[in-house]
Amino acid sequence: MPIFISRGAYADVPSKIHILKPDLANKIAAGEVVQRPASVVKELIENALDAGATTIHIIVRDAGRTWIQVLDDGEGLSHEDALLAFERHATSKIASAQDLESIRTLGFRGEALASIAAVSQVEMKTRQRTDEIGTFLRIEGNELKENTKAAAEPGTSITVKNLFYNTPGRRNFLKTRNTELKNITDVVTRMAIVYPQVTWHYLSDEDVLLDLKPKPAGERMRDLFGAKQFESLLHVREQIDSFSLEGYIGRPDFARKSRSDQFLFINRRFILNRAINHAVFQAYEHLMIKGMFPFYALDITLDPQKVDVNVHPSKMEVKFENESAIYRFVLSSVRKTLGAHDVVPNLSFRQPETLEQVEERLRFTSPGRDVPSPWTMPAKGPGHTPAQPDVSLQVNLDQLFGRVESRITTGPGERDGEATFPSPDAVHPPLPVNRVVQHMPIRPAGEHESPGETRAIWQIHNKYILSQVRTGLLIIDQHVAHERILYEKVLANFENSLPTTQQLLFPHTVQLSAGDYSLVKELSESLTRIGFDLKLFGKNTVVIEGIPADVRIGNEMKILQEVLDEFKEGEPNRTIDARDTLAKSFACKAAVKAGDKLNTTEMIVLIDQLFATQMPYVCPHGRPVMVKIPLEELDRRFGRT
Ligand code: ADP
Ligand code: MG
Repeated sequence: MPIFISRGAYADVPSKIHILKPDLANKIAAGEVVQRPASVVKELIENALDAGATTIHIIVRDAGRTWIQVLDDGEGLSHEDALLAFERHATSKIASAQDLESIRTLGFRGEALASIAAVSQVEMKTRQRTDEIGTFLRIEGNELKENTKAAAEPGTSITVKNLFYNTPGRRNFLKTRNTELKNITDVVTRMAIVYPQVTWHYLSDEDVLLDLKPKPAGERMRDLFGAKQFESLLHVREQIDSFSLEGYIGRPDFARKSRSDQFLFINRRFILNRAINHAVFQAYEHLMIKGMFPFYALDITLDPQKVDVNVHPSKMEVKFENESAIYRFVLSSVRKTLGAHDVVPNLSFRQPETLEQVEERLRFTSPGRDVPSPWTMPAKGPGHTPAQPDVSLQVNLDQLFGRVESRITTGPGERDGEATFPSPDAVHPPLPVNRVVQHMPIRPAGEHESPGETRAIWQIHNKYILSQVRTGLLIIDQHVAHERILYEKVLANFENSLPTTQQLLFPHTVQLSAGDYSLVKELSESLTRIGFDLKLFGKNTVVIEGIPADVRIGNEMKILQEVLDEFKEGEPNRTIDARDTLAKSFACKAAVKAGDKLNTTEMIVLIDQLFATQMPYVCPHGRPVMVKIPLEELDRRFGRT
């Protein structure tokens, strides 16, 4: 309860406490709402959406430092309301304490415009559809400088000039132009995700960064993130009792190294919440490589009474009535979606985009997304896929597995202009596991004979393994598959189990360069854990007495040097995690190579071991291990459907 005391009888007693002058109080309060240009953009967009806008223009100059304008076609304001809107705690959105319990609008605190006006020069032009004439206001540091009737389109336009002109401290704390612009772009992107029915037009200096037509939610995702990213997304839609969840999650093999593509919304309000973020992450457990983060854009809908959004002036934090229930709901929904989809990358024979299509898409894609350059596309695209089956079934396998550097990118394509979601059935290891050979090391054929297994499995060109699976044909790159297996094995060795070493009959003395010698010294404990048995003899001489059991015969003498060379290649990452780099280097060098012939048993062991790894779909360097040609794709190509 606030206590109001009149100084009355004590008026003559000198006091050290005084009430702050309104403009100073406003500046202080503004600091909580307006931290940077992006916060202004966020508040203005929220107001436009609350006013029922269907088209929103955002124009910034100098990353918002000198100019931020948000223009909407919403309900507008009367002359009186326009003046009131800039008062602190002036809002049309709530009236009683009860209203605060169930907020359905994005704004409710009535302080955004007052805060913005306290630290900038603001102009507002607004007109209600029913009014004949509109209002123009100019306010500087909370002082009304101009107040006139003006001709205006229905809706509201607010321009914020010279943000923080009167609070140099704030102004000096702004980050670089790029960072501030990225923050603004993030704000617009988030809003555009959950308001797909709104037209968005976003201009920075002279660049159109977003130009989004109203679309169904899925197509909006494609417009924002590009066709390639969109194809890696799975649609989530779940509902229990009082909550529902809808949105998109990324397939695990398309994970990113940063958390920047994670969007969480509650009732279409972007929020930051560690618990729910963790729930999503938890659902990906074992599907994701360490240090990688899934893409997601998820909107939780729940009764506004069950969530408090009035935790912080920025309205990005919330408190749930029952957080653990939401946590479990999100975890199980995401798990269910991942489980229902085959997370092996699908191979479908798409036509490359035409140059026009690429240009069109790039125009609508925000900067900084990794979209291929139009110059990597063939000059003349064949246009859209014809409706009838194609006459040939051609695919460049090497290119698909990233084995060759190709100038023709087949990646971002659309099939008949519609989304292709992977089939909702999981891939299983090809056939029952042969336990006897489970722990046999994988070596090129000839070293041990196959026990004569027969199952639908072939090696082609001594580098790819083909295997029939329930839902189609699986193509596995033998080298990267083995790499994945060895990598996880080495990591496990680092953690606990003892390595298996094959002792050499004739220890081998090698002379290393001074640099390599000290590297061996530095890594000696890790090398031992991998299975090397090395003696350091000084003068850059190392005696190899044993090598890891997984090393291929014929490679014993070269392997140490190869691993060291590979390790040095990965040098930049070394300081972050030397052991991980070493594990990758070893896995890469010890794995079977393209060109190594494998017999059936070896292929079976390889596949079984691969599916026993935590992340069979990508190699430690991020290359795909397998792709699948779904049966439907084959049927489609042969005109069977
Ligand atoms: P809040 O959004 O929390 O109510 P603001 O300071 O952001 O507080 O806005 C104050 C009021 O001004 C709003 O409640 C709304 O009535 C009005 N207003 C602000 N922006 C717009 C707009 N773009 N269109 C119509 N009305 C607006
Ligand atoms: Mg507001």
